[in-house]
Amino acid sequence: MDQYHKKAAELDCKDTLAKFTDEFVNDDNMIYLDGNSLGKLPKRSQKLSSDLIRKQWGDRLIRSWNEHWIDLPQTIAAKIAKIVGAREDEIFVGDSTSLNLYKLVFAALKAKHGKTKIISDSLNFPTDIYVLKGMIERHFENHKLELLKSSDGISIDKQSIRELLDENTALISLSYVTYKSSFMYDMRYVNDLAHQNNSFVIWDLSHAAGAVPVHLNETDADMAVGCTYKYLNGGPGSPAFLYVKKDLQEKLLNPIWSWFSHEKPFDFDLNYLSNQGIQKFAIGTPPVLSMAAIEPGLDLLIEAGMENLRDKSLLMSNFLIELIQKELEPFGFEIASPLEENRRGSHISIQHEEGYRINRALIEPMDESKIIIPDFRPPNNIRLGIAPLYNSFTDLYECILRIKTIVETKEYDRFSKERLTVT
Ligand SMILES: *Cc1c(COP(=O)(O)O)cnc(C)c1O
Repeated sequence: MDQYHKKAAELDCKDTLAKFTDEFVNDDNMIYLDGNSLGKLPKRSQKLSSDLIRKQWGDRLIRSWNEHWIDLPQTIAAKIAKIVGAREDEIFVGDSTSLNLYKLVFAALKAKHGKTKIISDSLNFPTDIYVLKGMIERHFENHKLELLKSSDGISIDKQSIRELLDENTALISLSYVTYKSSFMYDMRYVNDLAHQNNSFVIWDLSHAAGAVPVHLNETDADMAVGCTYKYLNGGPGSPAFLYVKKDLQEKLLNPIWSWFSHEKPFDFDLNYLSNQGIQKFAIGTPPVLSMAAIEPGLDLLIEAGMENLRDKSLLMSNFLIELIQKELEPFGFEIASPLEENRRGSHISIQHEEGYRINRALIEPMDESKIIIPDFRPPNNIRLGIAPLYNSFTDLYECILRIKTIVETKEYDRFSKERLTVT
């Protein structure tokens, strides 16, 4: 492994984005490879949050709405727009990803009245599938959900989309980067195919925003949702976002009428008049504390540049794959992510029959070894999330070396196979 150690050090030396690591709260005794579940805390967010609580909330109270808070969602939206390739008046920030998906699915199905097929895939994140199934059960009884199948459990074949999509398809709802295998769709291809059939596409960008460049406008995307607490480093449970292409905004309706989606919320009129822009997808009062904390993470991504981050992420992923193939495959590991780099996001999944207990041993070493935090997804996936803003090549080298040691010495034997609640 020594040659890899040297190579990692060389790559870190040449890394022009290395300086961004220092922008985050780090622990020298820990390697964090779970930025795709909860991104690290930017130091600027720490300061911003404490000032906001002390001065804006504590001292200024209600006056802060006009002084600082009322425009905050638009400020954040404009920055997210830059990261996902959209216009600032096409992004709404607020609510959770699941709720935003619900709003858009409802709006899309209403607008495509008469068409009854909905397409998703078997690799999608469960909440997305639940939203679709619940929508059919509660509101669209004649609709049917069809899932694209994966032949290898890793990716979805282009041909199978072409075969399933037809004139009766109202909506295709997919994750741009899938949460387990990291498979990434060809967004342009799917959008074009859908539009040829007069169908809508809703992209879930949760594992893509801040991880890979996203080009919503350039690929003529209709709608999208995504969360901000993964690669955008917005903090636990930070508000999600929603995108609707400008020329669709008028046609689509929020199923939840409320004061923040009203044309003039502060007229307090009892008649509902929907806002005509993206704000029509708002519901209630913005969660100021968690909303404000998103901004520093976005600024860092914009400063670093998504194309530069993608270059680094690919260099890191390819280095990691080489390490896994050489050092872990002889011990029963398999790579469960696409090997083709333009079909892959920024995390790599590996599988081992003892995946769960190996993951525990990484997080809770019994000796002086560094704590390593990846995450585990059943039945046997260890996900290694690469956050190019703060991870280093040496992090990856040390992680693989440590996994190899755990498997060689069967250090995982001291853990039960019973799973903890949050993995
Ligand atoms: C993380 C994630 C979510 C999160 O949904 P919330 O409602 O914001 O908790 C949704 N979809 C996908 C694909 C995700 O990866």
